[in-house]
Amino acid sequence: MSNVFDESHPPSRALADDCVHCGFCLPACPTYQLWGEEMDSPRGRIHLISLGLDGEVALDRTFVEHFDACLGCMACTTACPSGVDYASLLEATRGQIERRVPRPVGEALHRDLVLTVLPRRWALRAVALVGWVHQRLGLAALTQALPDRWRALAELLPQVDLGAALRPLRRQWTTDAPRMRVGLLAGCVQSVFFREVHEATARVLVAEGCEVVVPPGAGCCGALSHHAGRDDDARRRARETIEAFADVDRVVVDAAGCGSSMKRYAQLLDGEAASDFSSRVCDVHELLDELEPRAKRHPLPLRVAYHDACHLAHGQGIRGEPRRLLRAIPGLTLVEVPEGDTCCGSAGIYNLTQPEPAAALGRAKAERIDGLDVDLVAAANPGCALQIQRHQGRPVVHPVQLLDASLRATSLAGASEGAARG
Ligand code: SF4
Ligand code: SF4
Repeated sequence: MSNVFDESHPPSRALADDCVHCGFCLPACPTYQLWGEEMDSPRGRIHLISLGLDGEVALDRTFVEHFDACLGCMACTTACPSGVDYASLLEATRGQIERRVPRPVGEALHRDLVLTVLPRRWALRAVALVGWVHQRLGLAALTQALPDRWRALAELLPQVDLGAALRPLRRQWTTDAPRMRVGLLAGCVQSVFFREVHEATARVLVAEGCEVVVPPGAGCCGALSHHAGRDDDARRRARETIEAFADVDRVVVDAAGCGSSMKRYAQLLDGEAASDFSSRVCDVHELLDELEPRAKRHPLPLRVAYHDACHLAHGQGIRGEPRRLLRAIPGLTLVEVPEGDTCCGSAGIYNLTQPEPAAALGRAKAERIDGLDVDLVAAANPGCALQIQRHQGRPVVHPVQLLDASLRATSLAGASEGAARG
């Protein structure tokens, strides 16, 4: 048989051959932990890709299911001593699957809906409105009758602040003699359901001497589409994002999944003008770690569990920066979550398309947090925040919201109220 992948961005034989089958990645892989199946481990999935390249398996439902079940958490890349680029292998394979393998009608409809709504602010605002009505009328019981995938959509919705969800984000924050001009990615989900994170990020950066702009042309960065294998949509969004941030020194991101994807635009766009852009992209923790602090930190007497978002820790190698940011806040005690580098089950749209394993991972993460004596959880990705909030009772905030509260000498509630006022 011949190679089952076509010529349009197939997975690389050379990258697949980098795997020496040592198995060091297996204990780090959440889906291998859940099921103990070789084909649901990184090594097994790479072997499937090699079999596909040799034409020894078909691009059939079984093949697809093993790649749909992968979280894309990249814990395997951290664990791999041979430096196998699993991210590129996974992205290329998912692109082939998405273009060429038909899905059952119900699954295809659900996937289309999720990938149509999530990247669009107007659609998310419509969801916020429906969710607000739903929550005001106390109709939660109705969602219990829905099939798993559709119920997951309803259950993930946070408590909706309708005013905040519908109000456009401020476009500019200025300061005297700025150190640099930074562009903040507003994005999609975060700009509607977590706008207080963006506002905290902007206030903190201004307090540290930066001018902050939110370019109107920058919407969804394409991460959700790219992770799902919808590469044409991801490329279009990547080009729009690059154009929108043409006149800033740095592009600041406060959502781990977006930053991870934007740093990989060169791979997505085959170079083009993406390398220069990606070199200007930084996560907000990276930039704050780089800047000499100017603003006074006030005490914030809280015990905080820090959750490593996969696309920050594994995707971007950012582990120390958020911890240093939190430890620099007087009175704040940073508490490590046991097995903190294991995915919470959010993983882009994974908790919507694979609700059962996502819930199992979410419950496991919640149990590990429940065993800690903490006031709240800090997580730097909106998907993680929703997932962790859903499975345990403590508030989940972005680390930059804690720094914002410290700089403003206010409680977190005060910071949120200030953010809501704009
Ligand atoms: S990305 Fe995560 S779920 Fe997928 S193979 Fe790697 S460790 Fe396992
Ligand atoms: S991906 Fe890396 S750690 Fe896993 S089996 Fe291959 S070489 Fe070993």
